[in-house]
Amino acid sequence: MQHILPGATALSILLAGAAWADEAQTVYRVIVADHAAPRLTVLDLSAPDTRWTFDVAGQAKPYALAGGRVVAAVQSNDDHVHFLSTGVTVQDHGDHADIAVADPALIGAPLTGPRPFHVVSHDGHSVINFDKGGYALMLKEDALAAGQIAPVEFRQSRAHHGFVTPFGGTILSTVASDAPVEGDAASTRLGLQAFAADGSAAGDLAPCTAIHGEAFSGAYLAAGCKEGVLTVTGSGAEPTYRMLPYPAEFPEATTGTLLGSTAMQVFLGNHGPDGLVVIDPVEAPHMRRIALPFRRVDFALDPAQPAHGYVLTEDGSLHRVDLLKAEIVASARVTEAYSMDGDWNDPRPRLAMAGDRIVMSDPRAGLLRVISAETLQELSTVALGGQPYTLTVVGGSGLNH
Ligand code: ZN
Ligand code: ZN
Repeated sequence: MQHILPGATALSILLAGAAWADEAQTVYRVIVADHAAPRLTVLDLSAPDTRWTFDVAGQAKPYALAGGRVVAAVQSNDDHVHFLSTGVTVQDHGDHADIAVADPALIGAPLTGPRPFHVVSHDGHSVINFDKGGYALMLKEDALAAGQIAPVEFRQSRAHHGFVTPFGGTILSTVASDAPVEGDAASTRLGLQAFAADGSAAGDLAPCTAIHGEAFSGAYLAAGCKEGVLTVTGSGAEPTYRMLPYPAEFPEATTGTLLGSTAMQVFLGNHGPDGLVVIDPVEAPHMRRIALPFRRVDFALDPAQPAHGYVLTEDGSLHRVDLLKAEIVASARVTEAYSMDGDWNDPRPRLAMAGDRIVMSDPRAGLLRVISAETLQELSTVALGGQPYTLTVVGGSGLNH
């Protein structure tokens, strides 16, 4: 018996060491841009007093790319896109996830070009549309996460406010009309079309007038149009397009912004300024409308509770939307009123999810509000000063080993 005891002691030391190294860690890192100052602020919700700030060229909108390893800070009015390594890597290992945490840092030199706007992350690529350049830049996300900025240009026949994405075996791009326009007027967007990498057409135009608001869920891409919502699925050179018309009983309005669920095949879109629409690309009814009591300021989907979405309305109320019932199931006042009258880019709150919490910027109050997704009650605030505006949250939980 005696010789077993030292062995057991060594084993328990080993186990204790392993337990320490295998510590579970949760990090939600917020990247928030100021409305007026050309600045990004980064902080962890668990230690909000430790902050990193990064100067950029203008008002930025942060997009999380490469599974949250990278954020693109798109400065549409200042023709710049800066890339930030978020420092947070969550990697799925099947039975568990690994998390690694380091300081955030800017990656390389920013991209510059005429009016960068929509950014799409799909099929391992991030694609930035340059609305006044008539091209999009495509970046491999693994390379981006490794700190390499090596964009490949995709040419469009007419510059427009659109998007480009790899999709299955092809590249989809919005297409704008060749008809001449007056002065600075935007050319009419006609729809979506498949192209080869060199920009030559690989399929017919799928009509979708004024196409806007692309999102992905499951096997589908969806975008809003004047006629309805266009869905795209399938692989290979010629995907399958289907127009879901707005139901006759809906009020006269269109969808221009969509969010795609990551956990079930469903989209949540706007329908006019004071409505939302739950979109099922497969099963009828394809569209169910939710009337809002006031106009929408911002909305978000809950990746942890896929049946839930949240919408902030201009009276300062936050509502939980049940996507299965297509109705508002809870509401709470979270800030003062922010009228939707005025410019679309006026400083108003934005929402992002961080696990079981909602992080809302409150530009007038100069802070972030951290709100329980379950109770819709405020848990804490993070005073930032300035006018905190657009934001994204990266991170999650994993083992640090
Ligand atoms: Zn692991
Ligand atoms: Zn847009």
